[in-house]
Amino acid sequence: MGMEITDDKEFLLKDGSKIAIIGGGPAGSFFAHFASRFARETGLNISITIFDKKSFIKSGPEGCNMCAGVISEKLVDKLQQEHILIPQARVQRVIDGYYFQTQNGGVLLKHPGPSQQSKIFTVFRGNGPCYATYGENISFDDFLMEDVHKQGVDIVHESVKEIVLPKNPKDLVRVIFGKRESPQEMTADLVVGAFGVNTAMMEKISRMGFGYYPPKTVRTCQAELPLGRATIEKLFGNNIYVFALGIKGLKFAAITPKSDYVTVNLVGKGDLTKADLIGFLNHPAVRRVLPEGWQMPESYCMCFSKIPVTHAKHPYTNRLVILGDASVSRTYKSGIESAFNMAYLAAKTTFSQGVSEQAFKNGYYKVAKNVLIRDNLYGVLMLFLNDYIFSQKEITDAHLSLLKCGKSLLVAQLLNEILWNMVTGNVTYKEIFLKAINPQVSLRVLPIDIGAWIKSKLKQAIGNSQ
Ligand SMILES: Cc1cc2nc3c(=O)[nH]c(=O)nc-3n(C[C@H](O)[C@H](O)[C@H](O)COP(=O)(O)OP(=O)(O)OC[C@H]3O[C@@H](n4cnc5c(N)ncnc54)[C@H](O)[C@@H]3O)c2cc1C
Repeated sequence: MGMEITDDKEFLLKDGSKIAIIGGGPAGSFFAHFASRFARETGLNISITIFDKKSFIKSGPEGCNMCAGVISEKLVDKLQQEHILIPQARVQRVIDGYYFQTQNGGVLLKHPGPSQQSKIFTVFRGNGPCYATYGENISFDDFLMEDVHKQGVDIVHESVKEIVLPKNPKDLVRVIFGKRESPQEMTADLVVGAFGVNTAMMEKISRMGFGYYPPKTVRTCQAELPLGRATIEKLFGNNIYVFALGIKGLKFAAITPKSDYVTVNLVGKGDLTKADLIGFLNHPAVRRVLPEGWQMPESYCMCFSKIPVTHAKHPYTNRLVILGDASVSRTYKSGIESAFNMAYLAAKTTFSQGVSEQAFKNGYYKVAKNVLIRDNLYGVLMLFLNDYIFSQKEITDAHLSLLKCGKSLLVAQLLNEILWNMVTGNVTYKEIFLKAINPQVSLRVLPIDIGAWIKSKLKQAIGNSQ
């Protein structure tokens, strides 16, 4: 593993060391997976415990870590390499393409690879929406947890109330969990904060005074609509619909087909409410995608989960490291894959350099900064350009007609590839940026964009003078 061994033996794990993981979402389960693997490889007998009050075998928000449930292609590959094979029963649908719907029309984006074969899965994080009755367990998060449980990780279905760092950092951390009236305690050589952003834990940790500052978040809106299998096959097939409708305040809108439900996801510039969901579902371009005469059911599964829009500062100290959404993740894309990558880095650091503040700074945070935080800056730029282009009718028209030239035109292929990677998050934002400024694209697209922009400004000026 190319390990750089620290001098400070007090901070190295040894036989009998204990790791407490707060949160059994993807970040917690992936850390547990890598920690179990590295413990086996280094011959250490380590005990690992995950705490999570949530039971993923429940349906509705109670058992769900609330997301669109798209498992990126890269993550599917990485899970396979780790022998984490998602059973068919936990996969809702295998996605073939993305339909990119603008206010003026749409285009089907295809996998840019030579085989055009996609390996993107859709899943339910918990055991399906509320009001649904599934006979079998279909939860993705439960599958990840079961997988690490089989590797010897203990699961405690309680929430952690407090973490007490030792006065002398060479002593152990106290983890207080369970019911307020009858709290229990364990000590750990390392505590892993994988509690996500929908919890008061972030504020508790930031009050501990070692410098942790949680990421800023916005409230998204999600709803599970029961359209029925046959209707979904007919209207959506295996395609995720991404909408760029120029709706004020909306940054991202998608409808993701599952087997007999579709998941609507809205991410805004600020917090969203039910009114945003209703407004979106009543937009004429969205109505065209939904069944004719469709009406909102009286009861449906809906949530307003938070999404991080910045990264955390100082997500580590001696014997404590914070992972996943509560730490550093990719802006708006493939949060589960980010959790996997960061869990690997943090676990690798734990076993090669120890659990000191210095070890996590060098082995985890500095690398995360290089990989994700820098790339997120390109992300902000690309998302801004994308928003601008698709909020301008004339420029949108120009891009759509180029895209519709299909495979016959190199620029259409390149535009398809750029948009595919923007919607799937399959490559880094930097790679997308470099492709977008490539002369093959920019020399062809820029004059069209400038022409369309001038046309739109002229139209506006004529409109204003009348
Ligand atoms: C609208 C939306 C759509 C998204 N769509 C996608 C997508 O399609 N694909 C994708 O890859 N990512 C998506 N994401 C991002 C993805 O959901 C997150 O990146 C991912 O869940 C982060 O994993 P995590 O383990 O850090 O946190 P979480 O998944 O939030 O898990 C945290 C866990 O910690 C537990 N916990 C919290 N506090 C305590 C405590 N005190 N004690 C014990 N346990 C505790 C919680 O119960 C929870 O189980 C989306 C996010 C949003 C908001």
